[in-house]
Amino acid sequence: MNLAYISHHDCQDHQMGAHHVEVPERLHAIRDRMIASGIEMLVTHYDAPKASREQLLRVHDAEYVESIFQAAPSAPDLLAWIDGDTAMCDGTLNAALRSAGAAIMAVDLVMSDQHHAAFCAVRPPGHHAERHRAMGFCFFNNVAIGAYHAIHHYGLERVAIVDFDVHHGNGTEDIVAGDERILFCSSFQHPFYPGTGANSQAVNVVDVPLPAGTDGEAFRAAVESKWLARLEAFQPQLVLISAGFDGHLEDDMANFNLREADYAWITRQLHDLAKRHARERIVSCLEGGYNLSALGRSAVIHVDELIGHG
Ligand SMILES: [Zn+2]
Repeated sequence: MNLAYISHHDCQDHQMGAHHVEVPERLHAIRDRMIASGIEMLVTHYDAPKASREQLLRVHDAEYVESIFQAAPSAPDLLAWIDGDTAMCDGTLNAALRSAGAAIMAVDLVMSDQHHAAFCAVRPPGHHAERHRAMGFCFFNNVAIGAYHAIHHYGLERVAIVDFDVHHGNGTEDIVAGDERILFCSSFQHPFYPGTGANSQAVNVVDVPLPAGTDGEAFRAAVESKWLARLEAFQPQLVLISAGFDGHLEDDMANFNLREADYAWITRQLHDLAKRHARERIVSCLEGGYNLSALGRSAVIHVDELIGHG
């Protein structure tokens, strides 16, 4: 069965200025590489719908959601800065609603067995967005919105969220901490932005802080020792991924030394987990990844492993 590739042209209309690294070209880089590699033939494209307010309010505070709707500038070329590196232009709100809506659609497509796997090629990313706060290029927490859609709409009792972006998924942790219907696993460079994750006490959170310079061997060893047994024991009915590729050796955003083969490896572990416990249901949402070449190569090898080969 092929993979659902969910995106929307509105995701290109979110821009944060000429010198910002979170650029529309990131999605082109992935798509170009999909075509060049031939993987394009193995996916079905879908246009992401906009998430509804009801879906957003499962993970975000009503006052916060309203503030994002109000903060959007109405004229082109205006930027409304939410924090030092997160801004809204006139296209941001629609892009953010499509990004969250992609996660909803992805869950719907795998839960209805139309696809076993879905990849949301969307921006803005989501994993830094907390219940009450936008930050770190993120407005709505796409992966958490997908997780709570699975819980509320389909009645799932155990959903795993695995976040291998180089930054701690502080927003996801803020939203899910203490909710034992979700097991949240996050690996990240530490100490580093956003500075959280080293001291989590939540029973449903498995944070794996790793030092600058972490390579594939150390990353795989940490995942094997900290995550895999916990994920296996949890027996998730759905596996969600916050797929950030900014830990790549060629990505200057951070200081991990991961390569495409490491992203293939972690994806294969999660796909196998989904096969054992989740009827192979697996949904991935794009988070970071700022070196366009490394992002394209890494995302495509990730998609290839989500499709699987027997
Ligand atoms: Zn990141």
